[in-house]
Parts: sequence; structure tokens; C-alpha cells
Amino acid sequence: MSSEKIQKTARKYALQNAVQFNGKANVKSVVGKVIATFKKEDLSPKDIIPVVSSVVKQVNRIPLNEQISELKKTAPELLQKEKKERDFSLPELPDAEKGKVITRFPPEPNGYLHIGHAKASIVDYEYAKMYNGKFILRFDDTNPENVALEFFDVQKEDLRWLGIEWDEEYHTSDHLEKHYKLAEKLIKQKDAYVCVCHSDAIKDGRFQGKECDCRDVSNEKNLYLWKDMISSSVEGAVLRLKGDMKSVNTAMRDPTLFRIIDKPHPLLGDKYRVWPTYDFAGAVEDSLSGVTHPFRTKEYELRDECYFRLLELLKLRKPHLMEFARLSIEGMPVSKRKIKPLIDQGKVSGYDDIRLPTLRGLKKRGILPETIKQFVFSQGISKAESSAAFSLVEAINRKLLDSAAKRYFFVQDPIKLVVDNAPSMKKTISLHPTDEKLGSRIIKTDNIFFVPKTDMKNLNIGDVFRLKDLYNIMITKKNKEINAEYAGEELIPDSAKIQWTAEKVIKMIVFVPGLLYENDNYNPNSLEKVEGFAEDAVSQLETGEIVQFERFGFVRIERQNNNIIGFFAHK
Ligand code: ATP
Ligand code: MG
Repeated sequence: MSSEKIQKTARKYALQNAVQFNGKANVKSVVGKVIATFKKEDLSPKDIIPVVSSVVKQVNRIPLNEQISELKKTAPELLQKEKKERDFSLPELPDAEKGKVITRFPPEPNGYLHIGHAKASIVDYEYAKMYNGKFILRFDDTNPENVALEFFDVQKEDLRWLGIEWDEEYHTSDHLEKHYKLAEKLIKQKDAYVCVCHSDAIKDGRFQGKECDCRDVSNEKNLYLWKDMISSSVEGAVLRLKGDMKSVNTAMRDPTLFRIIDKPHPLLGDKYRVWPTYDFAGAVEDSLSGVTHPFRTKEYELRDECYFRLLELLKLRKPHLMEFARLSIEGMPVSKRKIKPLIDQGKVSGYDDIRLPTLRGLKKRGILPETIKQFVFSQGISKAESSAAFSLVEAINRKLLDSAAKRYFFVQDPIKLVVDNAPSMKKTISLHPTDEKLGSRIIKTDNIFFVPKTDMKNLNIGDVFRLKDLYNIMITKKNKEINAEYAGEELIPDSAKIQWTAEKVIKMIVFVPGLLYENDNYNPNSLEKVEGFAEDAVSQLETGEIVQFERFGFVRIERQNNNIIGFFAHK
């Protein structure tokens, strides 16, 4: 067995492994494959491991796009053989019949949607689709204190961006008269009462498991008080369910069903002042709108008892209520309640700040809607609470972008390079390492270039390196700028390949997001501003295009005034 043969096989598998793992092959994995290939020939690992180690080292030094090209040439069959995709489809719903499943997504129009809402809406929407059912978008707009007009449209836009379509749309506030009637029914049945206690007293009562005097008021008086709540200027009264003040489930200790909110509603103005709570509106709306399988996040689990008790008392149909874990992501605020103060305090630039997990923020940094969908599926719908790493989102996005994004040269922190005796060239360079359909650009070069300062630090006078995709040069002088000599075009194995731009560049700023929280502390330095030069062809790009700046990362382009700005998605 010649070591050449082992080497060849090792190289093939090292390339395959590197391509699968973002450019870095792992010696152990490659050794395994090589041993398997030669198992009949009785080779000892001692013969194989040193060869593989050295091959892996060589392969890991080449950039990913070149690894892909080489593998495509030498062993294309291994390029096809990607890791098997996991099947991320949703599990069957209980008691579900084709054509009869109805789901709903019920956002409160009080802010921009985030990746947690994406989870809920995608699951609701996909289930309706899976069963040829119906999907309802319901705006839970029954707290005029929070609701703002702008958010109805904004949330719809964001859902459409995710690729979600709904069969029906309505506002919970459209049904207030109906809610009032049902409340009256509860009062008449002695299942609800108007409570005029101070909110602190109500809290205390719940804590101590003690009933208050309002509970024993006659039906007539209760109805009178209720009508008064609705029509007059009475302050502070609430309607409570007659639950069980001693229940171990504190959610059953006479929960509030309606309260007074004296603030105009953005759609209905001053028409109503008594508004249902989530406990009441959520249950009643799910039932009345025909929803068969409503999902809620797990933190509502204790409130399920109240949900079903209400429907029981009102003799309304009971849906198949289901729960899943709230989505959370390490170092990111996945909640409107947490996002809003960050904006109000100026800690982020707005709802579309690229450090936020809002759909706007994610879109701005180049995360694709398809990525979010795959991510949601990959997380599943179990109740187990956990925090996902954002790198999972990045990995999916990278995979989707890798085959579609055009490659350009960008030099971060550039230093000028003068190549004496450089041939003037017009070089055609492909915009993608494997997909020729993505086209190419022509770069005109003369004797002036820009290269990354950091790459130059490690190189000395006399060192030869390659301007990537162009030619070799040898360093002759290192000062404020670098001088070099043209050193031929022939590829020199293992020589460093350096990113460059020609003299004509566009100055660019790329914003690079980090995690907003480190160990739960706000990190004021979470947004980095990287300055650099991009090759001239970048000036042709349009807002919204996502490209890869080679060796730097995937970047979404935006034109602002006369500048081109980049938002960094991930490596
Ligand atoms: P927030 O704290 O962001 O305001 P919320 O639950 O009050 O959260 P809503 O607009 O009331 O926000 O939520 C609409 C739907 O989205 C609900 O069904 C809710 O359970 C779901 N949802 C909200 N946040 C998440 C999340 N992080 N993960 C999964 N589902 C979520
Ligand atoms: Mg809410």
C-alpha cells in the first residue's frame, strides 16, 4: 500500500468533512473513513493517522469555497452526500380530522413581532395547512392601555414576510357586546360578581385565600353594579369569577374577568370602558370562533382550569387547548415587555435594531424567513423550557445562503499595497465558487491594492503570498504601506491567499451585532462598527441583497442616501 494512495483517499474525505463543517475537517472523522476504506488491506492506524493528520492540516488551510471546488473536481459524489436532513415535521394533533381543524394566532397589537411569535404563528399556521383546515388571525386588542393603531398593520406585514397567510381576520374588540352578554349570564347564574375592593386588598385576599364581602352581594345588586361599571363613571370596580379562594391553583382564586380602562381604544374610541381580561376573552373567543386546537405558551398552564371552568359555566364548546414552551434565546430579549424598555431607554436604535430578535431586526441583518421556519421546526413543540443558542439560527441561515449568496471582496481595516512591475489586468472572477449561474464580475487591477492590515502583520520581507484569484507577489518593503513585487501566476501549494481590493473601492461600514446580554447583564458594546473597503462591484448592489464578503461573513446590503451600509448576519 503506497502512502500516496492513503494520502489521496484522506484528502478526499478531509475535503468532504471540511465542507460539511464550515471549512474545518476533523482528524478523527477522517481517520474513521480512511480505515473503513482500507479495511481489507490490514493497515494499522499507525500507518494512517500521521498521513491523515497532515492532510487535514493542509485542507483546513484552504478557504471553504476552494475546498468545495476541489471536492467537486476530485470526488463530486461526496459533495452530494450531505448529512441527512432530520425530519422536522410536526406531530399529529389529537382528535384532529382533515378539513375540520381550526387554529388561530392571537397577537396583542402592542409591539413588533419577535421570533417567539414566529414560533406560535408558524405552528398554528402549519397545523391548519397540514389538516386542510382554517387559520384565523385574531388581534387580542382588549387592553386599550397597550394597543396602538400602527401595530395592526405592522404585525400583518411581519406575518406575511414569514410566508403566513390567514383565512380570516378579526379583532377581539369587535365582540365586546357579546362578551358583556356572557358576563351578564355569569352574574345571573351567581358565577361572577362585581368587586369594589382596592386592588391591594384583592391581592391580599388571593394571597391569604380569603373571600371578600363583595362575593355575597345579591344578584340584583350585582347586575346593577355591573351596568353601572359599563355606563357610568364608577372607578376601580372589577368583575370576578366566583372561583375558589382556597384553591391550590391560585389562578382560580376568583380571577378578574373584566376591568375598567378609561383610555380611548385606537379603533373604537370611547365606546367602551369595561374590557375583558385575557382569561375571559381568550377562552370565549377560542370557543366562539370555532377554534379546535388553540396553542398557548406553557406559562398559562395554571390558567387552563379557569379557561375550561368559564366555558363550562357558559355552556360553550371546549376546544382542545395545547401548550408549548416559550421560545427563548440566550442573550436576547424574546419578549415585547423586555424589548420595549430597551427602545424607550435608547439602548437599541429601534424595533429593527439588528441585535433584537424581532422579525424586523432579523430581516435587517439578513436572516431569511425560511430559516426562521426551519428553526422553529427544529425546536419542536414540547413543553420543556430551554434557551436556544442563536448560532442554531445562524447555521440554518448559512446553509440556505451558501448556495445563493454572491461572493465579493471586502477588506477590513485596509492597508495600501503597491506592487511594482504589476501587470495591468482585467480579471474575470466568478461570483460564486460552484454555481456559475450567479455570474462573474470583471476586476481591473493596476499596481495599487488594499489588503487587510492584520494579514500583513505576520508576513515579512521576502515572503511570497497570493492575491486571491489573481497572482503571487513578494513583499519588498513594510512601512505605512506595503511594497511588493509581482511573482508570477502559477499556484504555489500552501501559500497564503489574501483578500484584496483594487484601487477603486467603496468605503463601507458594516454593523456587526453581538449578544445584547451577557450573563443577564446588558452589554453596551454589543454593536460593533467595522470599517473597510469593498470592491467596486459592491456599488451595484441593491438594498436587501445578502452577499458574502469572503473571509468576513454574510452581509445584508442597504443603500442609505449615497452610502452603502452592511449589516452582518453571521460568519
Ligand atoms: P410578549 O412578552 O412578547 O408581549 P405575549 O405572550 O404577551 O408576549 P402576545 O402578543 O400576547 O405576546 O402573544 C401572541 C401569541 O404568541 C401568544 O399565543 C403567545 O403565547 C405567543 N408567544 C409570545 N411570545 C412567545 C415566545 N417567546 N415563544 C412562543 N410563543 C410566544
Ligand atoms: Mg401579551
